Parts: sequence; structure tokens; C-alpha cells
Amino acid sequence: MKNNLLPDLFTLTAIFEGMEDAVLSHDLDYIILNCNTAAEKMFRCPAPVLLGQNILGLIPESVRQEQLAILERVWSGERVNHLYTVRNDKLHVDFPVSLTISPIKNEEGEVIGASHIMRDVTDERDTEEKRGMLAAIVENSDDAIISKTLNGIITTWNGGAEKIFGYQERETIGKHISILIPRDRLSEEDIIIENIRNGNKVDHFQTVRLHKNGSAIDISLTVSPVKDRHGTIIGASKIARDITAAKKAETAIRHQAEKLKILNTIGKAISEKLDTESILQKVTDATTQITGATFGVFFYNTINQDGEAYMLYSLSGAPKEAFENFGMPRNTAVFHHTFSVEGVLRVDDITKDPRYGQNAPYFGMPEGHLPVVSYLAVPVISSSGNVVGGLFFGHPEAGVFLQEHEDIVVSLASQAAVALDNSRLFTEVKELSQKKDEFIALASHELRTPLTSMSGFLQLLERKVIDVNRPFVAKAITQLKKLNALINDLFDISKIQSGKLQFYFEEFDFTGLIKENLEAIREAYTSHEIYFEESGEMILEGDKMRLDQVLTNLVTNAIKYSPESDRIEVSAKRSETEIQVSVKDYGIGINEENISHIFSQFYRAKDVNSSITGLGLGLYITKEIIERHGGRIWVESEARMGSTFFFVLPLKKRNSVNSHLRKKEEERV
Ligand code: ADP
Repeated sequence: MKNNLLPDLFTLTAIFEGMEDAVLSHDLDYIILNCNTAAEKMFRCPAPVLLGQNILGLIPESVRQEQLAILERVWSGERVNHLYTVRNDKLHVDFPVSLTISPIKNEEGEVIGASHIMRDVTDERDTEEKRGMLAAIVENSDDAIISKTLNGIITTWNGGAEKIFGYQERETIGKHISILIPRDRLSEEDIIIENIRNGNKVDHFQTVRLHKNGSAIDISLTVSPVKDRHGTIIGASKIARDITAAKKAETAIRHQAEKLKILNTIGKAISEKLDTESILQKVTDATTQITGATFGVFFYNTINQDGEAYMLYSLSGAPKEAFENFGMPRNTAVFHHTFSVEGVLRVDDITKDPRYGQNAPYFGMPEGHLPVVSYLAVPVISSSGNVVGGLFFGHPEAGVFLQEHEDIVVSLASQAAVALDNSRLFTEVKELSQKKDEFIALASHELRTPLTSMSGFLQLLERKVIDVNRPFVAKAITQLKKLNALINDLFDISKIQSGKLQFYFEEFDFTGLIKENLEAIREAYTSHEIYFEESGEMILEGDKMRLDQVLTNLVTNAIKYSPESDRIEVSAKRSETEIQVSVKDYGIGINEENISHIFSQFYRAKDVNSSITGLGLGLYITKEIIERHGGRIWVESEARMGSTFFFVLPLKKRNSVNSHLRKKEEERV
């Protein structure tokens, strides 16, 4: 009966051949007696070659001794199960195997050989190695790597997670992931799980999670689906990177950039502005913004002997009404500090400061005053050392103003002080300049009257005088003419200043005017030859008298500033639209430094010999006249090489004149 249940030889052979594991048997002398197809494949050697060989040939040197010892145990009847060892194939390539060796016994029960069942475990070993490597990476990662089921139950927790979230592994496994999620962000988890269920990864999602101690941590989250071997999504693995430091740095950089921007604009604004009000408002606004104060105020230091109030000047962050109900701050212990030489006062909680609350009538902040706990006050000190005023900042929380805020306000306060000094100087200069203009206007007017009568009397005298005295009278007349010209220049200047220099436009031949003008100059000045290169008639619309004045100025200057030469060249040519005139001399020339200034009023080149007199007005008036005609004037010159003055005038100038007038008008506004 029993035998009937045993498989027959054919069946056994079929099983033997069909096995995926390699099977070899050998006798006590290690000679291979049997092998199956899987063994042929494993050792890359056909059965006829394998059979009759010594099995030790398939065992690498490194493990041979150990194998022989095992076989000794088999000879004593023992079976060795699932031993991990190495074999090498026909090509002497080593590979890992899982080996089971059983003794083969004869009918008497004596061991006559052994059977080896071997499974190539190369793949398993690789997988195992990879797993080990991954586990090491996970464990050693600074990022938190956590896996959880689709229901949010935490299943793994690495060292990084411990460091970032403060929980130990044992405290989290089996708990719900929501222990890490702030209340107001719980819905994020649903969205993440929804994505995971659909097989989607959530990449670098920046959010906030909670530390064990309840503090919020900025993190960047990447969540990927975890699949089982059948590809079914069974959970999620999340990698959380702590980006608190990066976020902090980012915020710090942003704040810094904002600060720089404010500083830059404010620096520019206050150096450009010359009116006190806008300088102080800008400084108050910027410093309030930079310090993060609830409000900022600038008070002028106008306190009198009796300790009367400082003057509120500009305010930022709060409406003026917020201060209107109380009198201005008086010379209290707290305020005195800023306006005296004691300097900056920065206090984390002013209400706890010993100086606070000492003075009547309020003994502290009056009721209804904006709450002030953090307090910063910086004096604004002028270059002469006077405390012009003070910048004050308040905040209802303690410890808001830091050293860096103080430093910035101090630096802006000193810039503001310079700007205020400039503004004061500018106002003074403006007033003085106005006084000067008024004086010139008055003086030139007053001088003209006696001069006109003197001129009349001299002309009468000239006719009546005896021959011997005539040259003296003539000289007096020449000098009087010079004086008259100077006073006329002064008179013109005051008219230009007040915008009252009048023009009478008419059409005339400009070449004709030049000729007449030069003729008159030739008569008066015999020291120089004046050459004129003309190009025929040039009809122009302009103020004849004023253009005559221009020519006189340029040609007499050319004579005056070329004492060692005797040649002046004048030329005039016209194009379709304009006339260009040049006056060239071979005199002292003008160096580069002076060229840009000579058209300004009262400017005279510094290196001009003092014997050449003048007021520095001619070119200023000349330029004004040319520009009022819509033209341009410039000079080309080199020291000691002579100068050439050029001007161009449009033939029809109405439009350009109008635009020039508009420009002047705008400048005045
Ligand atoms: P003034 O001749 O009364 O000083 P201007 O306004 O006519 O005043 O000229 C301004 C300055 O320009 C002069 O002081 C002189 O330094 C310089 N300048 C003018 N014309 C010449 C010239 N032809 N050569 C050299 N310098 C000149």
C-alpha cells in the first residue's frame, strides 16, 4: 500500500527535470553522478561535461574549506538547509546561491553521497543591497522622510523627521499625520491625499507644519505615492525639508532690499529738495517705515526759557488729529534728553523708564494719546552743533526698535540736518540775490537820469568850447559813453531778471546792419583791422537795435581781449533757414575751465589781465538776445590762440521765439 503512494521513477524524473532549482548529486569522492537541466543552466555547462567531474570544481577557493567542513557534517547524516554561499560556473564567474545539502543513503542507511539543491540568489542579494542602501540614505537624510497609509497613519519616521519635528519614532508610528499639521491647514492633507490616490506626486509644496513644542516650521514638502508589488497605491511617502532658515534669509533680504530702496530714494529726495517742509516730511515718512513704528514725528526745537512746547512739524503713520487734543510736548525729562546734548534715546518700554511720568500735568502719556511702549528719539543736529529738532517714534509693543533702526535713523537724521542747512542757505542766497536784483534795477535807473543830463551838457559844451579844450571834452564824452554802455548793460540785466526786456521785430538786411556796425566800431577803435566776409543781402526778422548790441559786444570783446594782435575777422553766411555769424580774434583765448561759465552774468575769466576791465555782463545779455530770437551762441577757443564766437539766427523766428519764451517762462515757474 505504502509503495503505491510513492511516485514512480518517471514522475520523479519529470519533477527533477522541471525544477527551477539546480540539483546535483555526488558520491563520497565528490564525483558528480547526477544533474538536472536547471543545474546545466546555472553552471553554463552541459550534463555530459558536468557528470563525472569533481563537485569541488564548482566551489570557489574562498569557500572551499568551509564547504568541505559542511560536507563532513552531511557524511554523518546531517542535512544543511538554506545556506548562503557562492558557486562558480564553467566560465569561473562567482554567483551567490542558497544551498540545501542532504545526505544520500543506501538501503542499509549508510551515507553514500550527497544531493545539492541550489537557487541563484543574485537578484535577491541585489535587492537586499539596494534596500540597505536606501534605508541608510533615508536614515541619514537631514530631510524628514515619513511614510503613511492612505488614511494618514504614520508608518515610518526617519532621523531627519526626529530632528525637524522633535518627535521620536516610537511617538509617531501609528499616529495620524495631522499631529504635524496646523489647524488652519488641515484641509491641505485632503488635497495631498487626493493627489496621491490619483497617482500624482506633490512637488515642493511650501507650507507650515508644527514642531512637537507647538512652534511653526516653514517646510517644503514633496509627497509621492507608495505602491505595492501589484502597483496598487497603498500609502504615501513624504519628504519635508525645513526651510525656516531659507525663509528667514529670504525675508531678511527682502527687508534689507526694501530698506535700501527707501534709503536710496530718501537720500536722493532730500539732497535734491530745498524746501524744509518736504525734506522733513520725507525723512519722517521714511524713518517711520524703516523702524516699523506705528507713528513718527518731527518736532522743531523751538522751546523757550519757560519750557514752552516744541513745535510739531511733520507726522507720519497717524493723522494730525491724533495729536491735536493735547498740547505739544513740553520740556519734560523724557523729551529734554533728545533736545539736549545727551543724544539718542531708545527704550524697550518707556513706561518703565525712571524719567517717565515725572512731569505735570499728565505725568506720563495724556489720556487718549497713541499708546507708546517702544520709544525711539533721535536729535537732528545742524553742522553748527545746534539741535534743530528731533525725530520721535512710538510703538504699542515693547522692544520693537533695535540697534539697526537706531543706526539708520541717526544716519538719516544727519543727512536731514545737512539738507536743512542747505535749505536755509538756499533761502538766504535767494533772498540776497533778490536784493541784488532790486539794487541793480534801482541803481541803474537812478544813474541813468544824471548821466543823460550830463551827456546833454557835454554835447552843448562841445559845440561851444574853444579848440584847445576840445580834446578834453571829446575824451569826457568817450568816457561818458562807456559809462552809459555799462549802465545800459546793468539796466538790461535787471530787465532780463524781471522778464521785461522788450523786443521790436522787423524785417531788415542783416548784412547791412553788420556793415554799419563795423563801420562805427572802426571809427571808435583804430587799433585793429576788422575784416568782413559777407555773402550778399540777408533779410532777417529781428530786433535791429538788440542785434546791433550783440555785434558790438562780440566785436569790442574781440578787440579788448586781443591787445597784442591787430586783426579781427567777421563772417556771415546764410542757409535756407538761418544765418550764421562768426567773430574771430587772435587774442588771449579762453581756457576750457572758463568756457562753460562766460555766458553767465558777472562772470569774468580768472586769468584775464586786470588792465582789461569789464563787468562780465556783455555775453550774458548777448546770449539772452540771441535766444530770444530763437538762435544759439557758442565759442571755440584755446588759451593764447584766440577765440571765435559763433551765433546762428533763424531767418523766420516767430515759432522758435515763442518756444524760447515758453521755456523761459517754465524756468521762472
Ligand atoms: P566783460 O568783457 O565785461 O568781462 P563779457 O560778458 O563780455 O564781460 O565776457 C565775459 C568774459 O568772457 C570776459 O570777462 C572774458 O574773460 C571772456 N571773454 C569774452 N570775450 C572774449 C574774447 N574774445 N577772448 C577772450 N576772452 C573773452
